[in-house]
Amino acid sequence: MTHDFETDSRQMLGRLRSVMAEEAAGQQRLDRITLLIAEEMRTEVCSIYLFRDEETLELCATEGLNPQAVHETRMRLGEGLVGRVARTGAIINTDDAPGTPGFRYMPETGEEAYCAFLGVPIQRLGEMLGVLVVQSREARIYSDEEIYALEVVAMVIAEMAELGAFVGEGAAMSARHQQAVLFRGTSAQEGAAQGHVWLHEPRVVVTNPIADDPKRELERLREAVDQLRVGVDRMLSTAVGGDKDQLQVLEAYRMFANSKGWMRRMEEDIGRGLSAEAAVEKEQSTARARMSQVSDNYLRERLHDLDDLSNRLLRILTGQGNQTGAEMPADPILIARNIGPAELLDYGRSLKGIVLEEGSVGSHAAIVARALAIPLVIHAERVTTEALNGDKILVDGDQGIVHLRPDDTVASAFRDKMAMQAQAQERYVSIRDKPAETLCGTRVTLLMNAGLMADLPSLDSSGAEGVGLFRTELQFLVRNHMPKRAELSGLYARVMEASKGKRVVFRTLDIGSDKVLPYMKAVNEPNPALGWRAVRVGLDKPGVMRMQLQALIRAAAGRPLTVMFPFVAQREEYTAAKAEMDKALERERILGHPLPASLEVGAMLETPSLAFAPDSFYREVDFLSIGGNDLKQFFFAADRENELVRRRYDTLNVSFLTFLESIVERCKTLGTPLSFCGEDAGRPVEAACLAAIGLHSLSMRPASIGPVKSILRRTDLTELRRVIHEARETGTQSVRPAVMTYLRGKL
Ligand code: PEP
Ligand code: MG
Repeated sequence: MTHDFETDSRQMLGRLRSVMAEEAAGQQRLDRITLLIAEEMRTEVCSIYLFRDEETLELCATEGLNPQAVHETRMRLGEGLVGRVARTGAIINTDDAPGTPGFRYMPETGEEAYCAFLGVPIQRLGEMLGVLVVQSREARIYSDEEIYALEVVAMVIAEMAELGAFVGEGAAMSARHQQAVLFRGTSAQEGAAQGHVWLHEPRVVVTNPIADDPKRELERLREAVDQLRVGVDRMLSTAVGGDKDQLQVLEAYRMFANSKGWMRRMEEDIGRGLSAEAAVEKEQSTARARMSQVSDNYLRERLHDLDDLSNRLLRILTGQGNQTGAEMPADPILIARNIGPAELLDYGRSLKGIVLEEGSVGSHAAIVARALAIPLVIHAERVTTEALNGDKILVDGDQGIVHLRPDDTVASAFRDKMAMQAQAQERYVSIRDKPAETLCGTRVTLLMNAGLMADLPSLDSSGAEGVGLFRTELQFLVRNHMPKRAELSGLYARVMEASKGKRVVFRTLDIGSDKVLPYMKAVNEPNPALGWRAVRVGLDKPGVMRMQLQALIRAAAGRPLTVMFPFVAQREEYTAAKAEMDKALERERILGHPLPASLEVGAMLETPSLAFAPDSFYREVDFLSIGGNDLKQFFFAADRENELVRRRYDTLNVSFLTFLESIVERCKTLGTPLSFCGEDAGRPVEAACLAAIGLHSLSMRPASIGPVKSILRRTDLTELRRVIHEARETGTQSVRPAVMTYLRGKL
């Protein structure tokens, strides 16, 4: 039997469109669809299985199987052939279903009579919604054409589901984008926020998946692709001479935009009755499904490129640009797959919270979010697919949890949490101008970490006594070009002015490792955290460091200046960096610029090696600051960026505390001022322990100053030190349990 499959498929889609247009309840629509597919494909069975919840599929409509089984037969994800299609996203086509590994016999359906089985995923943009199955008695393999036709239909069913075609009275599935959804991600910035969704890239909605004039649709597709190619070529020509990575991405775009395979598949889809938009989206879905299976980074990136390109094409076709006319809510929670630091800064403090599908704790966007104290949850899988502009959303940055369209109970529990936080905030404000003096009378200096102009208002509002760490690289990271000396000195001068005489410790550029400047040639290193970074780069290629030191001296313009070199691993590195400082001073003196009223030059202690540097080093530096983030990662050999090992070793581990204590002792003996500026300084329990072992100058995120001061003012450090030492005597791995028992009630 030969068919003109294209005509058949168009006819099938034409009938599907009528079903879409009819006034009908969701269940009726599904029943009609299974009937029409069975008729059009001349097969005995057609069934639609949809997800009931994340783990369970339910038979929602069938033609040919026992009707009693509808809404009764369920299977778990991965269970049986249907479950396997849903889990893997791969088609199963067999002439011997009962003999196929994984087959699960469902007696209530009466399906044992059918040998041939073809199951295709119902998915939209990589999101699995269910499985569409046809079966027949005759032991046969379905042809490529039949598979293809079924895939096209599955795609339309997915679009219909998105448009809410199967909800309402007699609902076959619950309404999409209306249910409450919980996302478990990773916390990248603490704090709770409630607000309304603002999509960084609004979803494109395809309202016309089926078209009856393929010629017209082909024209529309070709026109849109031409427009896309011109756009990509324009981007390429303006990027010429620009950054290599960007060019590479654009070249990949061009490759896809001119790819015959991509075009051909979309043209075939249109030939079968899909609209141009639906054809683009079908290809995009396939690419996304592949993306989730591919582990090779290069391939994943290319699939990402294709995904971006499909988005552009969809926007051209639908005329739905980024400017959809939607108004940003007053309390926006930004939802994005990922976002760059510059884009995030554009939104600035207007955002109440941020939720990303990707990202990492140490990413630049996370650093900016932290600087702006905006709660941030990363790794919230599928959030961009689920959330719609204006949806109500709660972000729990402490737990890394996001509630989309929460029900009343969740919303009210969340309000309680926010009220408690507000109360605590009031408490912190009430002690803002009081010293961080412990019950035993020790004065601890609390400083803040900063890096952006946006941080500086916190100097007053947090009660910080100064800036213990100014991460100068942030200014380099948020630009797409190397800043000029005059730009930098202007900026540093503004920082000094805003600090109103409080001490600011400027750390010279700490790039390399996870902090890669977008406009500098990336170096391919097997272990970037152990690689060419920070002062190592500064000394090997001193141009930028010299420019920065000069900018700092000019910014000081006769005021006191404090400079710190990052990632010093041995004395000679410090000596060489200090020599650069001396040279810069001399140059400025000759040029007639005023020199700083006083100058302190110090080093960060971030590698265990420096703890064992000769005494002369400790005497040579004006001060030392422990960079706990790096020091801890090198002490335990556990990458601070790697989620698998990041939390494995406790800061209150006895070995680490003993190590820190030995540094404190050396500094005391040799008269070297010492402070601590890693993330742990901002965690109340850790901060109290650091103070107890003798670290009396702590630099942290501004938002942590209140909580840390609050606990310090209620703690007797002599007692806490005794608790730590006694716990250590017991041979415990971490002193945390003992410390927590002691501190209970003070937190
Ligand atoms: C540190 O390593 O603890 C530190 C403060 O520096 P950064 O986090 O910027 O590497
Ligand atoms: Mg560091």
